Amino acid sequence: MLNFPMPYPDELLYSTVARAGVHFGITSPKQLLDEVFNNRKVVATADLPSHIQAISEQYPKSLDLTAETLAYKHTLFPLYAPFIPEPRRLKSLNRMMHCTKGAVHLALGVTTSQIQQKQHFRLCPECMEEQLSKYGEYYWARQWQAAGYKYCLKHAELNSTRYALHNYHRHSFIALAPTTACLPPRSNSPPRDKRIEKRVEELLSLPPTHSPSFEQWNLLYKQVARTCKVPVN
Ligand SMILES: [Zn+2]
Repeated sequence: MLNFPMPYPDELLYSTVARAGVHFGITSPKQLLDEVFNNRKVVATADLPSHIQAISEQYPKSLDLTAETLAYKHTLFPLYAPFIPEPRRLKSLNRMMHCTKGAVHLALGVTTSQIQQKQHFRLCPECMEEQLSKYGEYYWARQWQAAGYKYCLKHAELNSTRYALHNYHRHSFIALAPTTACLPPRSNSPPRDKRIEKRVEELLSLPPTHSPSFEQWNLLYKQVARTCKVPVN
């Protein structure tokens, strides 16, 4: 596809593909899959997408937007990468480059995780206004979709939309628009200290790197325990 859009900072690849559909006036999900992936079986996955290699190949090599760069800057992969052994990190990256349907989620333990996965896409209306004035269009920011990320670091509580985040049977990419319908606010809970949101953004800013070994994690936990004056062996 000529003139495939460049991803904006922290934009989900899912969102970039959706914008490509808008830019080129493609309303058929199957046609969009044909144009971008040359494969109608690709599942529209927001957090840990597959077939990233096909997206990387849309860009000139001089931009250095490799599949690994795209995974680290435009998916939620950096939230998982530091906590899995190095062979599994490499295997997961490889699956994101080529495979389909839930393989990456299984490899990263997302489907069996105790952390509750968000049910719906989220958005920040104030950030959307900023996106429009800066870029002339809207996009799905990846941090909004991270588990536990409920407040925008710059603004207020995020709004949940009606679009399910984990729906492995869908093939359509939905672009963020001012008409995106939101669910009613669940609570009027007061703003909290946003600790989780800050940690999420720290992890998302990590560059590609080797996973720490179990021995390194062991040493870290012992140091933390000593700092907290907890007896360790
Ligand atoms: Zn915001």
